[in-house]
Amino acid sequence: MVKIAYFDASVETPEEIILAAEMVPVRLFGNPTIGIDKANEHVPPNHCVWARNILEQAIEGLDNDIKGVITTHGCDCTNREFDIWLECLNLEFLFFLNAPLKRGNSALNFFIEDIKELIVQMEENFKVEITAEKLRISIKKMNQVRCLLKEISHFRSKMILKGSEFHALVKEVQQQDKNEMINKLEKKLEALKHSDPFSNSNLKKILLTGSVIDDTELVEFLESLGFQIVIDDLCIGTKYFWNKVDETEEPIKAMAEYHLKKPIYSTKFPSYERFEILKNLAETYRVDGVINIANKFCEPILYTHPYFNKKFKEIGIPYLFVEIEYNRESYNQLKTRFEAFIEII
Ligand code: SF4
Repeated sequence: MVKIAYFDASVETPEEIILAAEMVPVRLFGNPTIGIDKANEHVPPNHCVWARNILEQAIEGLDNDIKGVITTHGCDCTNREFDIWLECLNLEFLFFLNAPLKRGNSALNFFIEDIKELIVQMEENFKVEITAEKLRISIKKMNQVRCLLKEISHFRSKMILKGSEFHALVKEVQQQDKNEMINKLEKKLEALKHSDPFSNSNLKKILLTGSVIDDTELVEFLESLGFQIVIDDLCIGTKYFWNKVDETEEPIKAMAEYHLKKPIYSTKFPSYERFEILKNLAETYRVDGVINIANKFCEPILYTHPYFNKKFKEIGIPYLFVEIEYNRESYNQLKTRFEAFIEII
């Protein structure tokens, strides 16, 4: 089956359009086990390490079934990198979807027009028809995925499902056929309903936020130190499924509204709105602490960290910020910082 990949730091690509074109949406993830050499020939080494990693993979060659890539404006790194993709990659279809930073009516209209342009270009390029009816069916399917993930997500705070297992599941959903995943999620949910909580009751309950954290091994590493991610504010997490698209609204408008109305993500501003989201999650889930992880050179996270640090101190919720290299060797180097954090919470 034809696949369309999306390079997206904030999961604002309407996968429904790809599904309506009878193709499989595949989110691109980094690979922390590779070096970044070829990408460094095109982008300065102080450009976000995660975005460079994906460029490296793209230059090496993506999966043969991937016939096109949609880059969606998450942060300025992804935006600027699109121009480089245009120059140095030979893909049949490349589209930049300009997901707006603002949230008002003009932003909504702007986003609607850009989504329409994406549909027109996909129809022309792939000789497919993306009708309103097909979009409605896809919206229903994606809403089913979202509802199942949201229900499963709660088992993390019930201390029944490991944060790492959930993280791996969300990643799989973002890359695999949605019908197969609905099947898998339904079975998982049923199994969880009959599972017991963990025997270790000393785990520290954490709200995890930050950049694109797409290496499940990092979450496993945190667990090995005694943390349990009970809730997150990640694009491989709640940002992907917390809300639903309105099924009664005209489909293109509904998809645009869904993305602009969902809780503001870490790549976007303003910081005070982001803080309110994190504060509510931290209080609702009664976490022991908040961990904010930035990929090296991730400007949006670096920008918001001092403000979060100050605000979490004010409300007395322990907060830890770490910046990581995008490779697994660096995790161990941070071990003492995580251990020190666990000591104080
Ligand atoms: S990790 Fe940060 S800088 Fe890099 S693409 Fe994501 S949001 Fe942008």
